Amino acid sequence: MSQSKVLVVCCSDPRLVVWMDRYIRDRKWRPMEIDRLISPGVVPAIAWKMTYPEREVHLQNIKLLHGAHQFGEIVLVTHEDCAAIGGSAKFASPDIELKEQQQMLTIAQQNIAKVLAPAKLIITAIYVTMKEFDQLNNSWGKETKEVTAPASKTPIKNK
Ligand SMILES: [Zn+2]
Repeated sequence: MSQSKVLVVCCSDPRLVVWMDRYIRDRKWRPMEIDRLISPGVVPAIAWKMTYPEREVHLQNIKLLHGAHQFGEIVLVTHEDCAAIGGSAKFASPDIELKEQQQMLTIAQQNIAKVLAPAKLIITAIYVTMKEFDQLNNSWGKETKEVTAPASKTPIKNK
């Protein structure tokens, strides 16, 4: 069995997955060092927003992965406007959404710590806002230089 460095627990929302890829790059983790648990609204589910059986499945999977790969950190990522919990429309204001999502993250941290006890590890909690998605979307591709090659009629052959 191989060891990993971190478990990323992240909603399936493509905006968040893209954000997560950027975060992983910034943290300088190598792809082979990362366990990933990606599922719709996974952090709210681990906290309390969804049905009990789903929470148990997520927690058991985390326990299984930790037993197998012994990662020292878990990163929990949830986001504004998560469809799995009804989107931003479900909350009276962005401030209330932020507050409730922060509560979810705290409860998810506690639930995971409980299931992994007595193991000690860092559980990082992150809430990603729409503003961050917009910034990411606007900056996308700007750091790589685009190259337009003229169409060639001659097929390129490998020697
Ligand atoms: Zn989501």
